[in-house]
Amino acid sequence: RAKSEGRGTYRFFEARMGVEVRERRLLEHDLRHAVARGEMQLVYQPQTDVGSGAVIGFEALLRWKHPERGYVSPALFIPIAEESDAILQIGEWVLREACREAATWSNPLSIAVNVSAVQIHSPHFVGLVHEVLLKTGLAPGRLEVEVTETALISDPNRALLTLRQLKSLGLRIAMDDFGTGYSSLSNLRSFPFDKIKIDGSFVRSVDSNEQTAAIVRSVLGLGRGLGLPVLAEGVETEAELGFLAAEQCHAAQGYLMGRPSPIGQFAQHTHGTDPVIADDRKR
Ligand code: C2E
Ligand code: MG
Ligand code: MG
Ligand code: MG
Repeated sequence: RAKSEGRGTYRFFEARMGVEVRERRLLEHDLRHAVARGEMQLVYQPQTDVGSGAVIGFEALLRWKHPERGYVSPALFIPIAEESDAILQIGEWVLREACREAATWSNPLSIAVNVSAVQIHSPHFVGLVHEVLLKTGLAPGRLEVEVTETALISDPNRALLTLRQLKSLGLRIAMDDFGTGYSSLSNLRSFPFDKIKIDGSFVRSVDSNEQTAAIVRSVLGLGRGLGLPVLAEGVETEAELGFLAAEQCHAAQGYLMGRPSPIGQFAQHTHGTDPVIADDRKR
């Protein structure tokens, strides 16, 4: 009996796998055409100075509006795009679009762009960034590239070379999602980061959970010791922000200060041109 049950479970599992694999292939196929079909859009989420509350920059976040499925989460499609190398084309579009948009802002705030491991390890990436900066006229000091530690570990030497070359263009590098994935403190010493972004999972309920608070305090101490500013992601409540202010965290980002929105610079868009897509609040 146990045997047949086991087989049944296996068959069920196999069938489910089949669906998932097929699903992935379909998405992978659609992803290849998504940029050309104009289905990709960027939304921008403000990053603020914790002390003053002033907006200091925006992070560009990718949105894919699939013709039949509607909005597909980047957490779902970015890994698929990375496996299929479609990420190179999509990532290039993101970089061009974000820099083009930021270059139009009257206020020279910073623009943070997420870059995947595949891009970092592409031999054309540094040249592409250089070309995009020249073409858009964006001051290199306004561009911040966000990479996760996981993006660096497959070939750390090559990654280090790329990050150094990027920095020599004048831009900054932020370590994204610090504290998750393959985090290692040695990464902070080995790679030329300019900023640490604490993952939102550590920020949630930092005001009420002693363990979380201890972890965030220690990351802030680490940043101070290394001379690196720290940005806390995923700030949703006044209590969380209050904790970060008391602990002298430099910068914050989260729904409390602003949802990702198609409008790059909120103040600039008081005129009637409607955003192409609704912001995350209305989705
Ligand atoms: P990330 O770079 O860590 O981006 C932060 C994520 O947290 C975003 O999710 C953002 O919408 C979400 N977020 C911001 N504030 C809050 C908050 O207060 N509460 C909660 N619960 N979430 C908040 P999103 O836009 O779904 O993106 C997910 C991930 O997909 C990103 O994580 C990034 O790793 C990846 N991604 C997004 N856009 C791009 C891109 O253009 N290129 C690449 N390579 N990856 C991207
Ligand atoms: Mg990011
Ligand atoms: Mg992050
Ligand atoms: Mg993330």
